[in-house]
Amino acid sequence: MKVLIVYAHPERRSLSGSLRDVAVRELEAQGHEVRVSDLYAQGWKPDVDRADFPSLPADARLAPAAASRQAFEAGTLTADVKAEIEKLLWADVLILLFPLWWFSMPAILKGWVDRVFAYGFAYGVGEHSEKRWGDRYGEGRLAGKRAMLIVTAGGWQEHYSARGINGPIDDLLFPINHGILYYPGYDVLPPFVVYKADKLDEGGFRAIAERLRERMRTLATTSPIAYRRQNGGDYLIPSMQLRAGLESPGASGFALHVGRTEARSAIDEGSPTPSARDVGAATV
Ligand code: FAD
Repeated sequence: MKVLIVYAHPERRSLSGSLRDVAVRELEAQGHEVRVSDLYAQGWKPDVDRADFPSLPADARLAPAAASRQAFEAGTLTADVKAEIEKLLWADVLILLFPLWWFSMPAILKGWVDRVFAYGFAYGVGEHSEKRWGDRYGEGRLAGKRAMLIVTAGGWQEHYSARGINGPIDDLLFPINHGILYYPGYDVLPPFVVYKADKLDEGGFRAIAERLRERMRTLATTSPIAYRRQNGGDYLIPSMQLRAGLESPGASGFALHVGRTEARSAIDEGSPTPSARDVGAATV
């Protein structure tokens, strides 16, 4: 397989950097081809602005989505964005690797998504009418490929549990997993989350590295999170509401959009012995 890792940490010698090295080494040992987009090392420009659309007339009002569509169709996106799109088309698997900062991804990685996931490429794909709301959520240009998050977090696993004060990790990562990765078509694997990352010692690192190697060995066979397909019959069109009665008993919020609840839990890397509930059943 071809694997693209998009890595967003300013320090090469960080825990995140070490996890990246572990992942690359294991994937290459398994015979996979690996490319890394190291956003800080590349000096990635995170903000969307006029410079992204060199063919836009100087006196034209900048409407980012429309400009993105025009530039994508005309092939006039900037070279750095085109290079990342080429990597996404090349890769069978996309891995986003980052520390959790303010319950989300670092700004540089969000800016990578904002600029690279262009209109006509990652969104605005397919027929948009009263009968069909485009090719998205399980369909789209990146359908048939897999994606996965590797995330380090300072908080404890309990803080991110169902009753934890931070909110459940699956909910916090939902906008990335569902809104950014599933949207353009990726099958999204359960995330690999390292909790209590700031307190990690070398012994803890060795245990986590071994679990990460196992996840890298099973990239092709791990069952994706069972998000519902937009065009699979579960949603009313054009209101895009989940049809009544399809949800699991008691499900609400983000969980409504997962068909098989047993597959949705994040894998816990912060505890030496994750319970069955913590590990997506399909990935054990
Ligand atoms: P590092 O700081 O590089 O390392 C962490 C520890 O791992 C160190 O003690 C290091 O010695 C040890 N380590 C052990 N073995 C190795 C090895 N082989 N290689 C490298 N290091 C090793 N946390 C939350 O839970 N929620 C938040 O919303 C949140 N927001 C944040 C916002 C900001 C702006 C910042 C700066 C931090 C935030 N944090 C938050 C904490 C953050 O998630 C952690 O600091 C981060 O995940 C740690 O990952 P790192 O790669 O930066 O680790």
